Amino acid sequence: MRQELLGWYDRNKRDLPWRHTSDPYSIWVSEIMLQQTRVAVVIERWKAFLERFPTVQDLAKAEEQDVLALWSGLGYYRRARMLHKAAQSVVAELDGKMPLKADELRKLPGIGSYTAAAIASIAHGEAVAVVDGNVERVLSRIRGWESHDSVGDAAVRRKVEEFATGLVDPRRAGDFNQAIMELGATVCTPRSPQCLTCPWAKECRTLGEHKTPKRAAMTSREIACALVVRDGDAGTEVLLEQRAVTNTVMPGLWELPAIAVNVMANLEERLTVRHAIMQVNYVVRVCALPSEGLREKPDGVRRWVVAEEASAMALTGLARKVLTRAGLIQTAGRNGPRLLIRVGSGN
Ligand code: SF4
Repeated sequence: MRQELLGWYDRNKRDLPWRHTSDPYSIWVSEIMLQQTRVAVVIERWKAFLERFPTVQDLAKAEEQDVLALWSGLGYYRRARMLHKAAQSVVAELDGKMPLKADELRKLPGIGSYTAAAIASIAHGEAVAVVDGNVERVLSRIRGWESHDSVGDAAVRRKVEEFATGLVDPRRAGDFNQAIMELGATVCTPRSPQCLTCPWAKECRTLGEHKTPKRAAMTSREIACALVVRDGDAGTEVLLEQRAVTNTVMPGLWELPAIAVNVMANLEERLTVRHAIMQVNYVVRVCALPSEGLREKPDGVRRWVVAEEASAMALTGLARKVLTRAGLIQTAGRNGPRLLIRVGSGN
């Protein structure tokens, strides 16, 4: 099975930038970004992050707001905060040297078994198995083990971990782990496994007939926000608000002022943006209005920001999307439609 998988990987692997390095810090950043974010989105963001923070020391001494700004659009900001914290702990407590072994890596903030195994095997060749959702799906299908709920089943998970530990190739542990994840991402996909091209078809007991647990249903929600701009001395300015640092969701990030959907009925809608977070599809109505149309914000900071400078701030993914669509900022690698919205003369 090792030979079949590694042979297939050597012929079919995607050319991803983090596959050209054995630097544990760069691999660590890629693994954290890839959790819950698509490969296509991560590629440019990983390059930009490493350009700005090329070493663990650079990341450790950065301001948190700068780290969050570079993370903007990737979502799940806790990952960025933990990465930053862990980099500070590597510098302060380990003399700037990342641990070599998975067991040691796991002691760092935000590094669980999966990430520790991925870094240790890819950067140092340690023969530890990674088990993520892709690996669990592939190995469960091979053995015909079924989970009974959408988040998996502890008994199946244990069997998969044992199976994966026995399978990992000690001579090419990093490649083996990447190969099995690649197989899950590109061939043994959740809804339509391509069994005819699968290197493990001979070993597979289910060949595409495995029951895949249903995904939790997405719900839809309508929200509205205000795009308030004015002409400033240094160019167009936009009004942004900072979420309270005590907020459990996206603390400290900058966003557009929210407005109640019923108030919006009396305003002119200028843009509609769709934005998915977790299991919710948001339909966001964006209204342009003058700043006196907004209520006071007693519990947070509200600030006029030169639009061109806003892209370097720690914006929420939604704020970045709206400002990009409105033509007020540019986001690298994205060429969405540009639409410049102006509201009267501003104030
Ligand atoms: S044969 Fe099909 S179901 Fe089995 S592991 Fe390969 S792709 Fe998945």
